[in-house]
Amino acid sequence: MGKDTVHFKCHHCNHCCTDVVCLPTPWDVIRIVRDTGADPREFLEFITPDEIEEVATNDPTWLRCSGQKYLMALRRDENGCHFLNKATRYCSIYESRPLLCRLYPFKLLESRTGVFKGFVLHDKVGCPRHRDGVYQTGPLYQIYREDDTHQDDYHQLVQVFNRQRHLGKKPEDFISLFIEGLPMAKTLPESELPSAPEAKRAAG
Ligand code: SF4
Ligand code: SF4
Repeated sequence: MGKDTVHFKCHHCNHCCTDVVCLPTPWDVIRIVRDTGADPREFLEFITPDEIEEVATNDPTWLRCSGQKYLMALRRDENGCHFLNKATRYCSIYESRPLLCRLYPFKLLESRTGVFKGFVLHDKVGCPRHRDGVYQTGPLYQIYREDDTHQDDYHQLVQVFNRQRHLGKKPEDFISLFIEGLPMAKTLPESELPSAPEAKRAAG
């Protein structure tokens, strides 16, 4: 396989949409709201460290509120992700899904100096990794880099939130920090928004 292809075919087992916690960035949330009109307070939840083991306790995306730590995640119920169509078992916001959903189940390979070497299937995620297809991973690198770039902005937003000390502060208040700019974002051309581009953190 070349640098831009991997032997892989998704068999829609739904593991990544039912058993994996999806952590969207604020820009993923803005894109979903803009494209679907969904209310972020209905499709987001804020999870505590006992609900997720894979994120280090010192990860800069932890929100701090009333002595507790939270991560922003796509809401789930007993059937999986809020956006998983329960009848078709397909993603109902496929074109607008979060960057990490787009990167799953691939893992980035880079040289020590950061030169892109391609993607492989991540062996530490639950995907069955069927190899009966050829997947074009070329565009994923741009998505990965984009996600990486926006992480710094995300961390700054979290710092602003964590410095707030007002009475009655709730993790849901974090949404207000970035969603209030949505009217402006709605008027931006697609090229100026983080692109809608499959790992919930698998591509690290
Ligand atoms: S947003 Fe779509 S692709 Fe991502 S976990 Fe939810 S249903 Fe799956
Ligand atoms: S876990 Fe793998 S095979 Fe199953 S739906 Fe996700 S990407 Fe497709």
